[in-house]
Amino acid sequence: MAHDVCIVGGGIVGLSSAYFLAKSGLSVNVIERDSIGSHASGFAYGSLSPLGEAGNAEDILPELEIARIGMDVHNLFAKELVETTGIQTDHRFRPALDLIFTEPEAVKAKEQVEWRADEKGYKVEWLSSDEALKVIPHISNEILGAVHTEGVADIEPYKLMLALTQGCELLGVNISHGNVINVVRNGSELQVTTESGSVACKNVVLAMGPWMINTADWLGIDVPIKPLKGQIVRLNSPNVDITCSVGWNGNYACTKPDGLLWAGTTEEDVGFDDKPTTAGRDLVIQALTKMIPHLEEATLVQHTACLRPLPIDGKIILGPIANDENIFLATGTGRKGILLGPAMGTIISQLITGHNPKIDITSFSPSRFQNV
Ligand SMILES: Cc1cc2nc3c(=O)[nH]c(=O)nc-3n(C[C@H](O)[C@H](O)[C@H](O)COP(=O)(O)OP(=O)(O)OC[C@H]3O[C@@H](n4cnc5c(N)ncnc54)[C@H](O)[C@@H]3O)c2cc1C
Repeated sequence: MAHDVCIVGGGIVGLSSAYFLAKSGLSVNVIERDSIGSHASGFAYGSLSPLGEAGNAEDILPELEIARIGMDVHNLFAKELVETTGIQTDHRFRPALDLIFTEPEAVKAKEQVEWRADEKGYKVEWLSSDEALKVIPHISNEILGAVHTEGVADIEPYKLMLALTQGCELLGVNISHGNVINVVRNGSELQVTTESGSVACKNVVLAMGPWMINTADWLGIDVPIKPLKGQIVRLNSPNVDITCSVGWNGNYACTKPDGLLWAGTTEEDVGFDDKPTTAGRDLVIQALTKMIPHLEEATLVQHTACLRPLPIDGKIILGPIANDENIFLATGTGRKGILLGPAMGTIISQLITGHNPKIDITSFSPSRFQNV
């Protein structure tokens, strides 16, 4: 019998969609080529920061409304998934401290403090360098100041993926292994073909991260997305406890509940190569020691790299395609997929079960590429 929904991709977007669809009572089949959460969704930094980074982000996220939902869904997951699966995902609220080294960064940061301060649920303030050094004494004393934001949070992405996988299985989701190579319509059903067979379903959700580019041939539409590689290190740094997520110029560092200092990141346009490199590691350490200079005793424990799905216009891709209303695309989360993925999962579930999402998602529609 045909499944109600077949989801291609076992990252945070695919599994969040599976979770909410199964909760609505639909039969769901997830097909993953590698292992669940084995790409960006399992190896991200795990920051949940809807307001962007002061002094760096040019403007408000185009997905701000989805990010707000994302924060709510993460709160729900933190309670519900732990209760049902017993897996702790290390969800916690901890402040962000964005460091400002130059006058142009300070101008932007102060503007951002103004609009961030209007956002409900957050406390955002500009700190002088002395005030910032009191919050985290290990940061550089060369800063001009910093923006301190309360209300932001983080999780351990791999643990979240484990909990989501088990949560999905408890709801009856079938998770299978396979490399999907085509999707075709066959009368009232869709046929999802892997290298070892095919599965019939009524709806398909394609949540394949940057590999979504491969769907262009199957769907006959353009999905302009590319991989953007990022690297992260985890350090054992005795006596240096960074209790905020310290940020500067797209880089970040924080002591996580595992006791390690996590730091990132790079942005590398190198295709689908997702191997950690010494050059990438050195760039991360360089930025880290600009933010937190005295790490002489720190030792490297883990070094990872993975690929963000980056759409050509920088906005997520979410909704049905124009030539088949039962085929949905859900990707393009760039640097924010851990935050946005669970919200996108709820929206996909609402679309498939015939409920109107509470927010307008028109500007994220895949048809924005089909109409040009
Ligand atoms: C270094 C780094 C740090 C990050 N930090 C953060 C952060 O702090 N906060 C935040 O919100 N976001 C962060 N992100 C971004 C976030 O990780 C991504 O946006 C998000 O994980 C993308 O999720 P996804 O489910 O779309 O894709 P993925 O996690 O890539 O999952 C897609 C899955 O589809 C599978 N797949 C692909 N093709 C096929 C096929 N043909 N058949 C079957 N399966 C297939 C893949 O194997 C993969 O498992 C970070 C990213 C990086 C790289």
